Amino acid sequence: MNKLSITDLPIQGKKILMRVDFNVPLNEDGTIADDTRIRAALPSIQYVLDHQGSLILMSHLGRPKEGKNPKLSLRPVAMRLSELLDKPVLMAPDCIGDEVEKMTDTLSQEDVLLLENLRFYPAETKPESDPTFAEKLAKLADFYVNDAFGSAHRKHSSTYTITQYFPHKAAGGFLLNKEVSFLSKCLQNPARPFYAIIGGAKLSSKMGIIKNLIDKVDALFIGGGMGYTFFKAQGINIGKSLFEEELLEVAKDILQKCKEKNIPLYLPTDVVIADALANDANTKVITMQTGIPPEWEGVDIGPHTVKTWSSILGKGATIFWNGPLGVFEIHNFSLGTEEIAQMLSNTHAITVVGGGDSVAAINKMGIGDKFSHLSTGGGASLEFLEFGHLPGIDALSDK
Ligand code: AMP
Repeated sequence: MNKLSITDLPIQGKKILMRVDFNVPLNEDGTIADDTRIRAALPSIQYVLDHQGSLILMSHLGRPKEGKNPKLSLRPVAMRLSELLDKPVLMAPDCIGDEVEKMTDTLSQEDVLLLENLRFYPAETKPESDPTFAEKLAKLADFYVNDAFGSAHRKHSSTYTITQYFPHKAAGGFLLNKEVSFLSKCLQNPARPFYAIIGGAKLSSKMGIIKNLIDKVDALFIGGGMGYTFFKAQGINIGKSLFEEELLEVAKDILQKCKEKNIPLYLPTDVVIADALANDANTKVITMQTGIPPEWEGVDIGPHTVKTWSSILGKGATIFWNGPLGVFEIHNFSLGTEEIAQMLSNTHAITVVGGGDSVAAINKMGIGDKFSHLSTGGGASLEFLEFGHLPGIDALSDK
């Protein structure tokens, strides 16, 4: 990446304002359900402390609707971070304002201060509503580091607008740099064959990336709910499976483009169908040649598909995967997603998984360490693959 990295900054004795992604899932009682995102930021945090900087961390948490909602305070995160670092982490009562400035003014080397939830201010997500918000944040520090890859596709105050106040002083953190490096491997000269598996519910949310991948991959595998719009586009009955009528033409275009470019597009040859979206529903495995009867819906890829896809994927050198291949939240419909995940975990290919539900499925199976890279940002990784860049990364200072 031709952008400044955290390792390019003269950190000693300086205040570093670091945008991290501490948007952790919370339990009903407000405790942290999963601290993966906090752990993911530790290398950059530790680096600043090891180089005698003072660290000011900022993040959003959830989607607070009306100002300061105490249930979405970052205070529990400060406590967890303190345990992980084995040192005190100061918690600010706000993210901007006099009191916060007093706290940042008195920070010593190796102190850590966490600012309160950025989204308590609407200007975080709508910078144009108050351009001074980013400026007030910027005032707190000497240098800016963005390590929140999962938010880098958003033009928010803390990920985008703020960088104008740090000319030649806005750098990428380790997590952000690692994401860019792995995703770039898929875009620029990937080891071949390069295969992409795209699943999930909606074709509408992924048609851009699918169209773009056709020019890059050696084969495309499309499963999950979005696959049924492709079947319908070929005149195959899909019962009451997920279907986006307004995208029929898009699906036809994609099928046609693959044909013209000679890129195989693999759809499931067999699927599991169910008469309801429930674990105790009646199920059958049918071949897609016969189509899905009315009142039934496709909920997972079938065993024949798992077998044939696995034998092709096994020859891949780079494999990108985004989106579950069935309704994996329901145990009986999760087998296809799990078997493909298991298979990918045993290949020698570079395996990059684009965030969200596919990463959740892999982590649930406890096989995360067998993948080359699990992206921390679903939307961000897809946009990066689609456009080749992200606003939050473009906004960083050039090297
Ligand atoms: P996405 O956010 O687009 O990756 O979609 C993830 C969602 O797609 C998950 O909640 C899955 O349950 C859902 N999904 C995957 N396959 C199907 C399917 N065949 N029918 C309905 N929903 C599905």
